[in-house]
Amino acid sequence: MATTTKFRLNPEPPLPSHRLEPLLDEEEIRNRIAELAREVKKSLGEKDPIIVCVLKGAFMFVADLTRQLDFPFSIDFLRASSYGNSVVTSGEVRLELDLQQSISNRHVLIVEDIVDTGLTVKYLQANLETRNPASVSVCTLLHKPANNVKLAPIDYCGFEIPNHFVVGYGLDWQGYYRNLPYIAQVHEIGN
Ligand code: 5GP
Repeated sequence: MATTTKFRLNPEPPLPSHRLEPLLDEEEIRNRIAELAREVKKSLGEKDPIIVCVLKGAFMFVADLTRQLDFPFSIDFLRASSYGNSVVTSGEVRLELDLQQSISNRHVLIVEDIVDTGLTVKYLQANLETRNPASVSVCTLLHKPANNVKLAPIDYCGFEIPNHFVVGYGLDWQGYYRNLPYIAQVHEIGN
């Protein structure tokens, strides 16, 4: 297990320092992704699906998940934003980058980093459903069930986690920490 690390971020302009408390280590993540890949293959392996990576947070998860999938599929990207630079949802989702491919008559798998209130994934599902896909399903690495007020349906879930802000493995705090190979809870410890 990775050890708790203190991060002193760029002091100009001053950003708070953080203590990062590891929640899920590299091995746990790798093992769970292998299981998810088997589940995805069982349902979609014969269906030539489109895997939709929800940028930016899902980039690392999609890279690792798709390398475990040994059947034909295409990958496309979109970007949805609901948070800005805040750690609480703005309550509104915007599509900032759309898919390049048509999804008409295709089986679509939306891959998210985290489902929190469920707002983003509900919005994306509803948006993609209007484009005449054969099916739309959802895979998320993390889920905070305590906050999923929108009751977003999730077909594949990596881990259910407590209601605490997390970073690493693609997830950021103001653009930082996406590179961490593990997932950690963030504790602010001042400047
Ligand atoms: P929702 O719409 O489900 O409330 O939130 C989904 C989006 O909020 C995620 O794709 C992610 O960008 C962001 N988010 C929610 N919880 C966290 C968290 O604990 N850490 C980080 N870094 N982002 C989060």
